[in-house]
Amino acid sequence: MAAALPNGAGRRVVFFPFPYQGHFNPLLRLAAALHAGGLAITVFHTNLRSPPDPADYPSDYRFVSVPVHVPMEVVASEDIARLVTELNVSCQEPFKQRLAALLSEPEGKAGGVRCVITDVIWYSAQAAARELGVPAMAFMTSSAASFRNFMVYPTLIDKGYLPVQEEHKDDPVDVLPPFRVRDLQRIETSSLADFATLLGHTVDGARQSRGLIINTFEGIEAVDLDKIREDMSIPVYAVGPLNKFTPPVKSSLYKLQQDRRCLDWLDTQAPGSVVYVSFGSLAAMDPHEFVELAWGLADSKRPFIWVIRPSLIRGFESGDLPDGFREEVGDRGRIVDWAPQDEVLAHPAVCAFLTHNGWNSTIEAISEGVPMISRPFLGDQYGNAMFACEVWRVGMEVQVENQLERGKIQASIEELMGNKEGMEVRERMKRLKDVAMKSIQESGSSHTSFLKLADHLLSF
Ligand code: UDP
Repeated sequence: MAAALPNGAGRRVVFFPFPYQGHFNPLLRLAAALHAGGLAITVFHTNLRSPPDPADYPSDYRFVSVPVHVPMEVVASEDIARLVTELNVSCQEPFKQRLAALLSEPEGKAGGVRCVITDVIWYSAQAAARELGVPAMAFMTSSAASFRNFMVYPTLIDKGYLPVQEEHKDDPVDVLPPFRVRDLQRIETSSLADFATLLGHTVDGARQSRGLIINTFEGIEAVDLDKIREDMSIPVYAVGPLNKFTPPVKSSLYKLQQDRRCLDWLDTQAPGSVVYVSFGSLAAMDPHEFVELAWGLADSKRPFIWVIRPSLIRGFESGDLPDGFREEVGDRGRIVDWAPQDEVLAHPAVCAFLTHNGWNSTIEAISEGVPMISRPFLGDQYGNAMFACEVWRVGMEVQVENQLERGKIQASIEELMGNKEGMEVRERMKRLKDVAMKSIQESGSSHTSFLKLADHLLSF
C-alpha cells in the first residue's frame, strides 16, 4: 500500500526503535513504508541487542549505533520498568551527540533531516531531539487503548484499581470502559510506582511531540482514538496494520534465525488444520506451565508449530521437553526457536493462534484472519486479550486459575476448532480481516492517515 510521496525525495527521517522485538518490528515497518514513498531513512539503534543486518534492508538505509550502558543484572531481570527507565537515562546524551553529528553533515550527504520518529517510550530521545530543534514524533507500538491506559494511570492508582486486588479483579473500571480491573496494564515484576513514573514521562513526551503515530486502525479502535484526540492537542495518526504495508521483517534482535523449514512442513498440512503457538519475545512461564502446555498441545491431537525461544521458561536458557512428548506427537508437532511469524500466520494451513496477545501478534493475527486463543502474561497483553475475546470476539481466552493446565489448553483448542461458538469466532475473524484490509486500501482510514502523516513530515 506504500504510496509514492510527491516531494519526498531527499528528505531524511531518523527512526529510533526501542530494543525489543515487538517495538522494533512495527517502527521499521513504518520506515519501510515511508522509504517506499521516496524518503531517506536513518535508523538509530542501541548496542543492547544484536545490530540490524544492513543486508536485510534497502541499500540506502543508514544505521547509527547509540551506545547504552545498563547493568547486566537489570537487563537480565524481569524488572521491565527499571530497564526502560535506565535505558532512557543512558541513551539521552549519546543519542543527542549522534543526532547533532548527523545534522552537521552537508545536506547532500545526510539528506536534510526533517524529523525524528522514536518509540513513544524513548521519552529522553524525544527531549534530546527537541533540544536540538529537530521535530520529533512519537510512535506507539501497542494499541490506542493501551495508550489510554498510560494516560489515566495516576487515576487508576488513586481510585484503588491498581494494584489489582483479587476480590475486585472482575470489577469494571469506570474511567476506562470496557476494561475490567484484571485487564489493566501492569508489570507484576516491576514496582507499580516505577511503572507509573515511566508512563508519566512517556505521556508527557508524547504531548510535547509533533504527533503520535499508532499501529492500529479505526475499524477496531475508533473510540479510543477519538478519546486520545480529544485529550491531546497534537495530530494522532492510526496507520495500521503496518505488517501489511511492507515485506516481512527478517531480523530477530536476539540473534535467532527464523526457522523457515516450518513453512515447508506447513505446505504438507491440510488447509485450516494447524495451531500456531507463540508467546512473543518477552513472556516467560514457569517450568510447570511449560510441561502443561506441552501436554495440552499433545492431547489436542492437532498439528502445531510451537515457538520455544531461549528464556521462554523462567530461569532456563532452553527448555527440555517432557519425557515421551516427542514420541507422542511425532511429525504432528514442529518446535522452532523463532518462526517467520508473518508468513506462518498467512499460511492457509494455519487455523488458530495460541498467543500471549502482544499487540503485534494480535494485529498480525487480525490482518491474516487467524482466530486467537489468548493467554496474556504481562503489560498491555491483558487488555489486548480482553479486546480480542470480549469486544471484537475473534478469540477465546484459555481459562487460567493460577497457571496453565493441560486440560484447559486442550479444551480451548477444541472449542475454537470444534463447536458452534468456535465457528462463529472464526467467521467474525474473517470479517475483521476484511475490515483491516479495507483500511489500508486507497481511501481506507489507515491509507488516508498514512498520506496525512507523510504530508505532515514533509511540512517540517
Ligand atoms: N515474532 C516472530 N517470530 C516468532 C515470534 C514472534 O517473528 O517466533 C515477531 C512477531 O511477528 C511480532 C513480534 O515478534 O512482530 C513480537 O511482538 P509482540 O508485540 O507480539 O510481542 P512481544 O514480543 O512484544 O511480547
